Amino acid sequence: MNLHEYQGKSILNSYGVAVQRGVVVDKVEDAVSKAKELNAETGTEWFVVKAQIHAGGRGKGVVTETQSNGVVLAKGIDFVEETVKGILGGHLVTKQTSAEGKKVNKVLIAEDVYYPGESEPSEFYMSVLLDREMERNIIMYSTEGGMDIETVAEETPHLIFKEEIDPRVGLQGFQARRIAFNLGLSGQAFKQMVKFVYSLYSAYEGCDASMFEINPVLKTSDNKIIAVDSKVTLDANSLFRHKEYADMRDKTEEDPTEVEAGEAGLNYVNLDGNVGCMVNGAGLAMATMDIIKLSGGNPANFLDVGGTADAERVEKAFRIILKDPNVKAILVNIFGGIVRCDRVAQGIVDAYKNMGEIPVPIIVRLQGTNAEEAKKLIDDSGLNVHSAVLLQEAADLVAEVL
Ligand code: GDP
Ligand code: MN
Repeated sequence: MNLHEYQGKSILNSYGVAVQRGVVVDKVEDAVSKAKELNAETGTEWFVVKAQIHAGGRGKGVVTETQSNGVVLAKGIDFVEETVKGILGGHLVTKQTSAEGKKVNKVLIAEDVYYPGESEPSEFYMSVLLDREMERNIIMYSTEGGMDIETVAEETPHLIFKEEIDPRVGLQGFQARRIAFNLGLSGQAFKQMVKFVYSLYSAYEGCDASMFEINPVLKTSDNKIIAVDSKVTLDANSLFRHKEYADMRDKTEEDPTEVEAGEAGLNYVNLDGNVGCMVNGAGLAMATMDIIKLSGGNPANFLDVGGTADAERVEKAFRIILKDPNVKAILVNIFGGIVRCDRVAQGIVDAYKNMGEIPVPIIVRLQGTNAEEAKKLIDDSGLNVHSAVLLQEAADLVAEVL
């Protein structure tokens, strides 16, 4: 589950990670009074207004309606309202959004932390994530903060460092110091960075995150180390033990069909192709997507209907798959282990009749308990449903109807 910047920062802050402070606003009318509260708390005279959407690249992104960027500095309280107006309620298009962009429902008004002082502020990159190859959490960091890490990885890969954490002993002191050293820090900033890394890693473990990306981490002109941005992804499977984080979910940022499928207990992911698929079991669903590719099609979705593929669930699954206008055929691939194939077949026939006309051909492959009875049920139904027993037959049928 992805979080907004302001939500990620509140979690970081609760673990003692220093963050750029701010206030969240969803109405232009609240902007000035909230900014004044922030001024009272932090003393900041300048404010940076930041669109809260689930996509990066906001600073360089553009709001369609106003041409404002998604992160804008307001040099004084008098500029806060018009700056917020330029961002809130508009659609922000960034490198990471679609061409329509994402509607900005909230903005964060944050303290300006790039103030002048004894040294220049400098920006670093830091992320914590699971490296599946190493089977460990790693801290990835770079002196090249503030820019696209993909670009850094391409152009100057030697400026990206990694520290792997041994799960038996956790993050070690020498590792935190090595990070601060590799980032070229000394004195107060060095100490602050060691503390920052420690609290960041304990936050990552404590909130069951699957990824933290802080870009930039800032060394301020007076040698404080703070998180200016936060991109936090939590492991959705751990939310049962973090009720307060579960409430942070913003469904308006998610694909509406995926939300609807989730509410119906279906595991659905929308993809770009033209063959819809309905499968029981995630592994079989992956294999089915491969078969569709091999037969010359492209999967339009991943859909795991789970163990109980009864008429009601099958109907719901058909309705969800058919919301995608690119779907030209649907392949149903069910293995009848716990569930009997003839029950599923009956479910398909019932769902079909219930829905009236299904505008695309359906290829059904049922294998396992009572597969033959199931095939007969479908063949005798007189509907626009083709049945197959072998997976190859099903694949050939898909190729035929496309
Ligand atoms: P992103 O573009 O979505 O990654 O959003 P960020 O939160 O990283 O902000 C984008 C850029 O805005 C940062 O890289 C900074 O250069 C700039 N920025 C963020 N906070 C401040 C601030 O307090 N003062 C100034 N002057 N610039 C800021
Ligand atoms: Mn950023």
